[in-house]
Amino acid sequence: MTGMISPSARRISVLGATGSVGEATLDLIARAEPGRYDVVALTAKSNARRLAELAIAHSADFVAILDASAEAELRESLQAHPDIKIGVGEAAIIDAACREADWIMAAIVGAAGLKPTLAALEQGTHLAFANKECLVCSGSLFMDAARRHGTRLLPVDSEHNAVFQVFDTARRDHIRSITLTASGGPFRDWSAERMARARRSDALAHPTWEMGAKITIDSASMMNKGLEIIEACWLFDLPHTKVDVVVHKQSIIHGLVEYADGSVLAQLGSPDMRTPIASALAWPDRMTAPVERLDLARMARLDFELPDPDRFPALRLARQAIEAGGIAPAVLNAANEVAVAAFLREQIGFLDISSCVEEALAQSLNEDGMPQSVAAFEDVFVIDRLARDVAERFVSRVKA
Ligand code: NAD
Ligand code: MG
Repeated sequence: MTGMISPSARRISVLGATGSVGEATLDLIARAEPGRYDVVALTAKSNARRLAELAIAHSADFVAILDASAEAELRESLQAHPDIKIGVGEAAIIDAACREADWIMAAIVGAAGLKPTLAALEQGTHLAFANKECLVCSGSLFMDAARRHGTRLLPVDSEHNAVFQVFDTARRDHIRSITLTASGGPFRDWSAERMARARRSDALAHPTWEMGAKITIDSASMMNKGLEIIEACWLFDLPHTKVDVVVHKQSIIHGLVEYADGSVLAQLGSPDMRTPIASALAWPDRMTAPVERLDLARMARLDFELPDPDRFPALRLARQAIEAGGIAPAVLNAANEVAVAAFLREQIGFLDISSCVEEALAQSLNEDGMPQSVAAFEDVFVIDRLARDVAERFVSRVKA
């Protein structure tokens, strides 16, 4: 198969291939004209069967799986394909990220994606960037590394991809603000009392987007938008006061840029991640994506409202964290990851998620061994680990 690939094929790796973004990326590649893309490496946490299927379908050179317990199944599934090399464990995931490629999709979920995403970034090519948690926790270090290695960051998060498409970098002095839209999630119209009793299945029922479990819970709490505010500050080099959020339940307008002359440029599209992924995949060109076309007349109306700060404290916490700087964004992210996982295990209530983050932000600076600033990636790993301990103590207390 490799022999058929034209010399101009774009070499692609997908970190987090079996996830929602990873699958959507590979779906686009499968539909592209043959020879356009050459899949180098694919990674997954534990879904060996699916990873093997994807590797076979795309004739990947290398697959890496995190969980050692999935190794046997992966080897067995790839038995008839000795040309697909197999790696196991964190080092193998990083190895996958280090394989020479022209375009790498960073679609692992959580701060666990930081090391492999950094390894990909250090290749100095094109990094399609979905794994927002790793930018939230490492901020300026991440952006500095991208600059140092000459890496082109292509935002994949739909709102950031939208802003990227209409953000005139040559005229950034004339940009007044950007706006990220939010669907409002499944609890947009729920009372706080009802939210307090929300079950896992309620929070996983997202009205407009189909995504992985973690980001779906983040959408329900609006912490996703909080993380996205921080992500936008770094990607577009803006203070958070210039990053607005508006609830737009139809998820048709994804992001807007307001200019000094009053012009507001926006990107619109059906809520389908294959549009922002396609935009990053073909950048700076365009490609066809199999998404439903917008029919504004049929839609008839688009609604907008401000998020309710009382029911969605996550937005305030995220702004507080980016405003405080230092260790705070990494603490916010780590505590949120722990709280979301505990909610998904049905150990804490829905509103406990924000309480856990709030408590971790208030207490982490006093945690033994906590770095007081972020000078190197090593500090980020320590902050992440210690903030998780603080959050785990909250979870143990609440579930008791
Ligand atoms: P997902 O849970 O569907 O998939 C995550 C992928 O990462 C899977 O392939 C999984 O095997 C892998 N993975 C999980 N933990 C890992 C670990 N510790 N080490 C290595 N690999 C690991 O998640 P998703 O919804 O595709 O989201 C991925 C990232 O993209 C997240 O950061 C999310 O915020 C962001 N994002 C997702 C969407 C979406 O529509 N799903 C939209 C915008 C941004
Ligand atoms: Mg988004």
